[in-house]
Amino acid sequence: MKDRTETLLESFLSRINPHHKGAPEFLQAVEEVARDVLTIEKASREFTAARVLERLCEADRIISFPIIWRDDAGEVRINRGWRVQQSNLLGPYKGGLRWVPGLTLSVLKFLAFEQVFKNALTGLPLGAAKGGADFDPSGRSEAEIERFARAFMAELGRHIGPEIDVPAGDIGVGTREIALLSRAWVQRAGQWGGVMTGKPLALGGSAIRAEATGFGLVYFAEAMLAEHADSIAGKRVALSGRGNVSRHAARKAFELGARVITLSGRAGTWYAADGFSAEALDWVVGATGEAAQDPPGGLGVEFLAGKTPWGCAPEIALPCATQNELGLDDAKALTANKCRYLAEGANMPLTAEAEALLTTGGVIQAPGKVANAGGVAVSGLEMQQNSALIFWSAEKVDRRLKKIMGGLHDILKAERASCCTPGGGLDYRRAANVAGYRRLAQAMVAVGVS
Ligand code: GLU
Repeated sequence: MKDRTETLLESFLSRINPHHKGAPEFLQAVEEVARDVLTIEKASREFTAARVLERLCEADRIISFPIIWRDDAGEVRINRGWRVQQSNLLGPYKGGLRWVPGLTLSVLKFLAFEQVFKNALTGLPLGAAKGGADFDPSGRSEAEIERFARAFMAELGRHIGPEIDVPAGDIGVGTREIALLSRAWVQRAGQWGGVMTGKPLALGGSAIRAEATGFGLVYFAEAMLAEHADSIAGKRVALSGRGNVSRHAARKAFELGARVITLSGRAGTWYAADGFSAEALDWVVGATGEAAQDPPGGLGVEFLAGKTPWGCAPEIALPCATQNELGLDDAKALTANKCRYLAEGANMPLTAEAEALLTTGGVIQAPGKVANAGGVAVSGLEMQQNSALIFWSAEKVDRRLKKIMGGLHDILKAERASCCTPGGGLDYRRAANVAGYRRLAQAMVAVGVS
């Protein structure tokens, strides 16, 4: 006989699925949340009557637009752009923009859905959105990036504003791109306003915003390890990616005495058996082209072509690259080598099969909805500074970030009674879904049907 959760899930998905055909990543994210929260919804007459989860699955609006621009050779180029404004229940729409080749609306829908829970959990007044374009910035000249950013904002600009929707960066959109986009909006709107976060300091950005997702990830991991009477110092820590999240997480873990053993890119993994030195970390983060695959001797680093970091026997795994990057074989390698903790710097980096295997294998896992929430939380702090026309010191922002990450850990701990793993420990993944859902459900009940 099917258990109650499976029956509720089946009936829920049969209502949702027909409206989201061709959106596998979105349905994967929804299913994970639904499995955890449907019994909570069912137990409350108000939440059931309000159809909370079904409503959270519906984006308020999805904007799609072409981006027409000219490359350096004078050729006309066409890309596709989107902004998924998922929910402004708790505050202005808020979430990043990614520019990656092959980006699909399904990926953005899943990211916008995840962002609703993540932003709710920060406790800040933030709604949720995600956007981007199927554009590959790598190998493009500065002038091309500038023309593309202007063309992108010519379309997106009419849909955003400091109290409407405040985008930030994400994969392929860093501080420089945000500066271009922000300036393009200010010129178009004829008013200054913190319309984007992640701006350079000189343009009204916040201290620590660039570092926030990576630092916050390590702060959350520290709290999780402390809860298990453990510490990051001396541990073998494997990270994937070498972008903004990964490089700052690696730096913070290194500062705290961890042995950082990997970073990775599309072509393979940089591995330092004894842990990267500060110099080696700088080299890996900065290396470009073919030379990146050939680390200089003496650095203690080898390049493992075509390999992911998960076979390198870490005690702590920090996947920081992209969705579904860690599959079943990687999960098998992690459990076989007795990896004990995992915290997600990327959004939904585990496939559903990998996640199930790690859970059965007793790996303690912090989901992206809390573990990488430091980025958007400091974006919230940037919005506060912008609207008050002030700047806070790096020390102050870092202190607040640490407090927010510690607070997130406490919020999950409070869900312990109903969120246990098979081994009796706290199920962080379920606790994040349940705690985020509760905050959203209470707000939705408060607004009624509107
Ligand atoms: N892209 C980041 C995220 O996934 C940051 C979003 C923001 O700061 O608005 O949370």
